[in-house]
Order: sequence, then C-alpha cells, then structure tokens
Amino acid sequence: MKRWNGWGNVAMDYPVPPTAEAYLVDFLGRLDPRPDATFESVIESVPSSRLPAHPLVDVSAGTRLTHARGQSTPDWVALRSGRIPVFPDGVAFPRSEEQVRELLEFAKRIGVKVIPYGGGSSVVGHINPLVSDAPVLTLSLEKMTRLLALDEIGQTAVFEAGVTGPELEHSLASHGYTLGHFPQSHEYSTLGGWIATRSSGQQSYYYGRIEPLFAGGHMETPRGPIELPHFPASAAGPDVKEMVLGSEGRMGVISSARVRISHTPDAQDFYGVFFPSWEQGVEAVRQIAQERVPVSLLRLSSPQETETTLILSGKPWIGLAERGLRMIGFGNTRCLLIFGATGTAAHVRRTRAMAAAICRRQSGLFVGTVVGHTWEKSRFYSPYLRNTLWARGVVVDTLETALPWSQVLEASRTIPASIATAMDGLDEKVLAFAHLSHVYRDGASVYTTFLFRRPADPDELLVRWQAMKQTASRKIQDLGGTITHQHGVGIDHAPYLPAEKGPLGMDAIRAVCSSFDPDGMMNPGKLF
Ligand SMILES: Cc1cc2nc3c(=O)[nH]c(=O)nc-3n(C[C@H](O)[C@H](O)[C@H](O)COP(=O)(O)OP(=O)(O)OC[C@H]3O[C@@H](n4cnc5c(N)ncnc54)[C@H](O)[C@@H]3O)c2cc1C
Repeated sequence: MKRWNGWGNVAMDYPVPPTAEAYLVDFLGRLDPRPDATFESVIESVPSSRLPAHPLVDVSAGTRLTHARGQSTPDWVALRSGRIPVFPDGVAFPRSEEQVRELLEFAKRIGVKVIPYGGGSSVVGHINPLVSDAPVLTLSLEKMTRLLALDEIGQTAVFEAGVTGPELEHSLASHGYTLGHFPQSHEYSTLGGWIATRSSGQQSYYYGRIEPLFAGGHMETPRGPIELPHFPASAAGPDVKEMVLGSEGRMGVISSARVRISHTPDAQDFYGVFFPSWEQGVEAVRQIAQERVPVSLLRLSSPQETETTLILSGKPWIGLAERGLRMIGFGNTRCLLIFGATGTAAHVRRTRAMAAAICRRQSGLFVGTVVGHTWEKSRFYSPYLRNTLWARGVVVDTLETALPWSQVLEASRTIPASIATAMDGLDEKVLAFAHLSHVYRDGASVYTTFLFRRPADPDELLVRWQAMKQTASRKIQDLGGTITHQHGVGIDHAPYLPAEKGPLGMDAIRAVCSSFDPDGMMNPGKLF
C-alpha cells in the first residue's frame, strides 16, 4: 500500500544508519523530531464534496485525502501537519478512453475543474487543487494500465497512460523488450505523467528522455478527442505531439501513448571512478559526452555529495575505502562518478574501456563494479530515506537545472552555496551539495540536494523552504539555466517561467492550451 503522507510503499523502510545520524547532528545541530498528524485526524478535516453523484466518481474522504497532494516539500508539510487547505471534491477512476471523455463532458456541463492524475509523484505542486469557487475533480488514470498494441517490426508499443514504470516494464519484458525510462520515481510515476512533465530517466543518455520515446497517442480534451499519429519522422509543420509534451494536464487527458521500445539488453553494468577533484571529474564526463562514448548512465557527485552519500549508505566497507583513498592522495576534494554501459556483452566491454580511458586521462581511479552495484541496488530505494530522515527531524529536498558547459562548474558551486546563505540570518546550517545527473554534448544537468533541520512550526518550515527555493531559483536564472531540467513547472516553478519563455512565448503557450480548453477547466494555476 502507498504511503498517504510520504514516499513509497508502507512496507518499505530505509532506516537512517547511526553513523549517518551522528554526521547530520554534527553538521546541522541537535535534531528535534516531532510527531506528524495521523490519518484519522486529517481525514476529519475533509469537507463535504460539492460534486453531484456520478457512478465513476469516488467522493469518500479517504480517497480525496490520498489524492490531495504530491511529493514536494510544501506537500509534505501540508500532509504531515494536517493543514491541507483544499481537497479535490471527488476522484474519478475511468477504465477507458470513452469513460475519460464522459467524465470531461460531465465536468464541462456542470462547471468543474479537472486535474489529470498519474502517480501523484510530482515534486512541484502539479496535482494540487487550488482554492476555487468551482468544484474540483481529480481524474486518476490508475485503472488504465493495459498494453494495447505491440509492433515488434517497428519496435513500438501502445499503452494506456496510467501504466506505472514497473507495470510497463513487466509487460514489455515478457516480450523481450524494455522502454528503458527509469526516473527515480519509477515505482509509482506513470507514462502519462512522464509525457505531461517531460520526464528524464536515469539511463536517458542511452534510451533517450521521454520526448524521443513518445511516438504518438490519444488525448481527450474539453473540445473532444485528438489523435497524435505516429510517423518515424515528419516535416509537416509544427508537431502537436511536441505541444502535448510538458502540457501538465492543461490541454486534456493523455489516455494512451505509443512509445519507442528496445530489445532487453544482453548485458549491463555500472562502474565507479574516483577523481581527485571535481574539476577533473567534470572534464572527464564532458569528454565522454563530446567524444560520444555510448555509456548508458553518467552521474558525477561533488566532493560534499560523495562524502554524504557514502555515509548515508551506511555500508560497512565505506570506512576502509575512505582510508584507502586518502592514503593514495584522494583527500577531501575527491568525487565519485558512476557510469553505466548497456547493450551486447561486447558493447559493454568496449564502452567500459573507452570511458575508463578518458577517466584515466583526468587521473580517475577506476574501482570496478562494487560502488556501481551499490548504486544500482538503491536506485529506486534511496527516496525512502526521505521518510526516515523526516521522522528524525531532517527535511530533504532537491532542485535541478541544465546549463551550458561554460556555466556548469560555477553552477555546481554557487547553487548549493546560495541555498545555505538563505538561512544565514537564522544561524541555521544547510547541508547542500550537487551532482551532474545528466550530461549532454553542450552542457549538463546540475542537481542539488539540500538537508536542513525541521523546525517545530510548519509555517516556519514553509518560510524557510521558500527562502531557500527562491534564492536557488534566482541563482539558476542568473546563471542562464532552465528553471527545470526534469521536474516540470507545476506551481513552484510557474513564477520563473516567463523569464525563460519571454512574453510572446508565454502568449503562445496560453493560446495553445486554450485552443484545447477554451474555458480553462483543465488543471488551472499550473504551468502559468
Ligand atoms: C522520489 C522521486 C523521484 C523522482 N525522480 C525523477 C526523475 O528521476 N526524473 C524525473 O523526470 N522526475 C522525477 N520525479 C518527478 C516526478 O516523478 C515526475 O515529474 C513524473 O513524470 C510524474 O509522473 P506522475 O505519473 O507521478 O504524474 P503526476 O504527479 O500524477 O502528475 C504530474 C503532472 O502531469 C499531469 N498528468 C499526469 N498524467 C496525465 C495524463 N495521463 N494526461 C495529462 N496529464 C497528465 C498532471 O495533471 C500533472 O500536471 C521524481 C519524484 C519523486 C517523488
């Protein structure tokens, strides 16, 4: 069962290793964990629904509560303090495209706002109902998970859009295929959500982000259905498919999508390389990208992130490895690269050799597969640590951008630093660090994680979070980075979008959305 006020399955836990807790107390100061509101108490605050009865709509308080918020820090504060200002008036669970259409017609007829809902894993407020005079209907695709067609000759598959990562991969694996789209939220996020937010997977370097994987589909809009036909390529003017990517539920409900698939790889492995300095690590990954070495994953952690993640992993061999690294001159500035190779056995061997050779040119120490396998085992598990850290009194959040290579070094230093300075006035410490999560020929994604003490008062927590988020977002824009490389816009990034798109660009986005949704009934307040 999914957690109602945190990440993941209730049956899974990631205990904070005692060494990690000591490290955090040392850095942040004494922790002051407080209990959260209980499900039973929060459910009492769900008001009565404003929706008339409909056979596909569940208006029970429990269902409305579990679909009220996503996974951002403000969402967690609301859920865990029990102060949720707005709930959806009902949640619909259609089982077909026709039922999606019926629900949109129902909503249109009686003036209801509609929020398409995939896995609810948004970290920027995408699925939150906002205060509105009109009732709000959350439309969950949870029951639409079927594989509708498989074209083995063309290597494409059509799925209903509510399919989650594991369900989709399971269906394809039985035919010998994979989509290869593995965001860290894979366990719960859905195909429709990936398309609507332009998501990026951990192995996007090899398989591609969701944009090139999305080959067509079907969307139900307030003005009726639209088919997004599949062509290998097309020069027939602007591509409507491109407009649907990143539409964040503002144009309609993506009910099914055709995706480009690959054969399940024969071989795959993940390797670790330590560099004496961040600069050398960054230079190595830039060269790997620009020399077009066909790795499947590149993830380079800054020295601070390297230290923190090794400690948080709680692995018994870490202390020994640390001492060994220091003895051979890899001191406090060392940083860790994980790279992956995927394909045939020969391709994996060749790729590993090419990447390792470039790393050696930058004094990288290739350490084989131990660290890579540790990463692989926890690739979808590490978000569970956010639950246990919260319970110990520590808030964890992340933010991300992508910038040209000329800005990457500065961004990886100054974005985390800006977050820490936002708390200077309060004399509160913030543990902030970055990694390069995705690397391109012309730049990289700088992904920042920050940890801070949870104050007892939820309002105070929100004020602190807002100060950090705002400072970092302004810093990102000053550096010329995008406000988001993969998380999307939602509510939290909407104020920064006009600077990125320009007034004419914003007009065009609004105009496209309103051509599908003239009355503004789809997910109002998100994106713009
Ligand atoms: C622990 C964790 C790790 C994450 N890691 C990554 C990562 O590695 N890469 C990454 O890109 N993101 C990541 N995210 C962010 C999030 O998982 C993605 O944005 C994901 O694509 C959202 O998918 P979802 O199905 O959960 O969508 P939801 O959160 O349900 O919805 C997101 C938006 O998409 C719209 N939407 C959803 N389904 C449809 C549909 N069928 N039709 C129309 N609109 C729809 C919603 O209206 C909303 O605006 C992470 C989040 C968490 C909590």
